[in-house]
Amino acid sequence: MVKSLKIGVLASQGAFIEHIQTLEKLDVEAVPVRLPGELDELDGLIIPGGESTTISKLMIAYDLMDKISAMARKSLPVFGTCAGLILLARHITGNGVPSLALMDVTVNRNAFGRQVDSFETDLAIPAIGKKPFHAVFIRAPLIERVEKGVDVLASLKDGTIVAARQGKMLAAAFHPELTDDTRFHEYFLDIVTGKA
Ligand code: GLN
Repeated sequence: MVKSLKIGVLASQGAFIEHIQTLEKLDVEAVPVRLPGELDELDGLIIPGGESTTISKLMIAYDLMDKISAMARKSLPVFGTCAGLILLARHITGNGVPSLALMDVTVNRNAFGRQVDSFETDLAIPAIGKKPFHAVFIRAPLIERVEKGVDVLASLKDGTIVAARQGKMLAAAFHPELTDDTRFHEYFLDIVTGKA
């Protein structure tokens, strides 16, 4: 697909390998990011799912928080999945963590509770095409509120918002890297190249 793109995947903790594999399937150069220097010359960055408390701590410990924040504010497109969504959110309810605060959304951590904490469902996501997207939720956060400038991309049947976009920021409460459907990643690449 887009041969010349270089996308970083934050590799402090969590499901980063699956994102790298998905990007490689799309013929994109995917590089794990653990140190600030590895952010240079990226066309985009993915923040994976995992444990947001741990990822946040490691981002602070390795001086990644301020640099990612500054680069994103300048123009770097960032895509967060699950814990990555939490780290993109400006407001977090239920055990907040220090975040990048790049998207004007309020996210509730562990919102689905422990009993129904993991589930799969087919979602309508018009931005990526007509065919429903099979979404895997694992101890997922949900988006409680979006402010002006944020587009809702997908919701559950009960109206719970589970994917959103604000400018070049993209976020999903589910794990698109855990299925074979690459359309959500392709959508992020279209944001990176300015096609979407
Ligand atoms: N509930 C986790 C957190 O708060 C996120 C879960 C995930 O990324 N799969 O960090």
